[in-house]
Amino acid sequence: MGHRALSLCLTFICLLLSVAGARSQQSDLDGLVDREIPSLVSTYKALHAAPELSHYEEKTSALVAGELRALGYTVTEHVGKYPDHPDWVSYGVVGVLKNGNGPTVYLRTELDALPVEEMTGLPYASKVRTKDDAGRDVGVMHACGHDIHITSFLGTAKMLAELKVEWRGTLVMLAQPAEEAIDGAKAMMDDGLYTRFPRPDYVLALHDVPSVEAGKVGYTPGYAMASSTSVEVTLRGIGGHGSAPQAAKDPIVEAAQFILAIQTIVSRENSPFDPAVVTVGSIHGGTRPNIIPDEVHLQLTIRTYKEEVRQHILAALERMAQGIAAADGIPASRAPIVAASSSEATPSLYNDPQLAGRLAKVFKRALGPENAVEVPPIMASEDFCRFGLDDHQIPVFLFWLGAVDPAKLAESRRTGVPLPGLHSSLWAPVPEPTLRTGVKSMTSAVLDLMKK
Ligand SMILES: [Zn+2]
Ligand SMILES: [Zn+2]
Repeated sequence: MGHRALSLCLTFICLLLSVAGARSQQSDLDGLVDREIPSLVSTYKALHAAPELSHYEEKTSALVAGELRALGYTVTEHVGKYPDHPDWVSYGVVGVLKNGNGPTVYLRTELDALPVEEMTGLPYASKVRTKDDAGRDVGVMHACGHDIHITSFLGTAKMLAELKVEWRGTLVMLAQPAEEAIDGAKAMMDDGLYTRFPRPDYVLALHDVPSVEAGKVGYTPGYAMASSTSVEVTLRGIGGHGSAPQAAKDPIVEAAQFILAIQTIVSRENSPFDPAVVTVGSIHGGTRPNIIPDEVHLQLTIRTYKEEVRQHILAALERMAQGIAAADGIPASRAPIVAASSSEATPSLYNDPQLAGRLAKVFKRALGPENAVEVPPIMASEDFCRFGLDDHQIPVFLFWLGAVDPAKLAESRRTGVPLPGLHSSLWAPVPEPTLRTGVKSMTSAVLDLMKK
């Protein structure tokens, strides 16, 4: 056998061994996940029955911290601060597992639930009620599936603690509060996340989704979720008697003009190639039929991918509000107030295309080629993008975890009747195989990024 033939032969043997190695690694992981599933399902049901609102994630974060500590992670609690509310406690948790030299990978879960009264009728449905910040009595529910995320996160933390011989580097498990209020990720960054703890090379997260079957994952390279900005608009008029409009300046009519006028921002001022949404989600004004009120209050949400599009929309809202008030003859002292919130705002999510492409291959290997599907971007928002810093300095990747019974999804596609979605009182992810797929996909992703 010549040198060339020998080296070819050796290459072939190496290839066989590495394929066999990858296969046995995969079956090791499958076995470990199978063993863990019963306990993960019961953790999930316990979390589901005990949801906590944004900024109040006390027991949920304590559970996460306790579990990570028991697995050997070095845990820091109460990471985060809310500069506008110095009296608020942050329930952010960071668990670090150092395992030699190698990349630093962050995995993120959210901790919070929503003020939604659960209507699923499931045996483990939440019956929790509490007072919200405005003092209203509200039901509380994990209607966004953050309980699925926490459970997958804890399952992944356990797998990676047990499979330490297969990876090297620094693994950081990050549990963030207040995602639904979109100020939790910022709170953790404002508390020096990347200076107090190692700066990441990659940050990963998953989110359950009603449009993909349980057992599958979906991924979107590049822009995947929109930026979100809440805007408060106060249209001020001059109140008076409903029978004498000539003596008043009616802010209700002004609000009607404003709402119709702003529909042209997206349809007439914005490039059709730049996705954008302007929604008026609430309007309040007046008390009785025969009183013209002094003012009307509106709450809007703006969604875009590009920052310049967001800036254009904010400027157009201001211009239209002022222009309509001037046209209506409202005095300058009663000019409209248009205020974009700085705390209720988050940039768009840009999934690093190279990272997304690399991990899509990993998912196909771990779950089967048909179980990792590319899906289009959406206009919903997440504050996860903050962990990538401005201008996408750190590659981040959030992928979708299918959570719906495949037969139900097929039926919904056939009939066109939508299934309950995220934030619905009827949102009910199938715990298994959703959790199995969550743990398997996330663990495989980390093993690939940190392989020896
Ligand atoms: Zn949500
Ligand atoms: Zn969510």
